Amino acid sequence: MPWSERQLALMQGMGLRLWLPPPAAAAGVPPGLPEPAAADEVPPAPAVPAPRPAPVIVGAAAVARPPASRPATVTADVGTLDWEALRQAVAGCRACSLCTSRRQTVFGVGHPQAQWMVVGEAPGEQEDQQGEPFVGAAGQLLDRMLAALGRTRAVDGPQPPEHRVYIANTLKCRPPRNRNPAAEELAQCEPFLVRQIELLRPRLILAMGRFAVQALLRTDEPIGKLRGRVHRYQGVPLVVTYHPAYLLRNLPDKARAWEDLCLAAAVASGEAA
Ligand code: URA
Repeated sequence: MPWSERQLALMQGMGLRLWLPPPAAAAGVPPGLPEPAAADEVPPAPAVPAPRPAPVIVGAAAVARPPASRPATVTADVGTLDWEALRQAVAGCRACSLCTSRRQTVFGVGHPQAQWMVVGEAPGEQEDQQGEPFVGAAGQLLDRMLAALGRTRAVDGPQPPEHRVYIANTLKCRPPRNRNPAAEELAQCEPFLVRQIELLRPRLILAMGRFAVQALLRTDEPIGKLRGRVHRYQGVPLVVTYHPAYLLRNLPDKARAWEDLCLAAAVASGEAA
């Protein structure tokens, strides 16, 4: 998708001139791009099998916690919880072994009337420390991308709902050493994300990276094959794009990610279906 002058001006204004695609004859990393490989974005490590959870039912408020060494399955009726009860259920969750290594859960951030929802993978070290998704280098890139489109995760401020973004992850706990989420962990955590989407009822979901895409679209197709068109999750338009941590290491794909964000903006505003 070619960029309009306004989009280019926005990008430049936000320091995103680095997104300009390289000239056809000289494709490569444009000058002035930030250093790749954020310290908190560790390359994928092989998934380790999660211990089988004991068949213990966790109530909505997750009051009766089993010992940390004995995870419990999330079978509470998460689908009935309001925002606060859901936040508490996540905070008290011990459904998989990640509860034994996390500092804290990372629920999500944004205005409850945000019209966009960004779904990422899992908290990293800084998110685990601060309790907020996407606060490391990848998050800073995400914020700049959103700002270039006039979007923000900020909860306070005068922004209308269409300019607000809610950010959540497929996993609410950090996998040790930032390894890939395990299938069991994703399965246990999924009801929380599903409920967040139900409560938010976003106009647009932006799925960033393969774990978010696999969780929401139930597909093993690579991002490269899924991006560039509009999918649906429970009737909500969903746009697929690269994970910001990947973009920090694969600079030429930033131009494609920018195209994806422009598609998302067009879908959310009703200009594209
Ligand atoms: N990567 C993610 O997918 N989510 C975060 O919150 C941080 C890094």
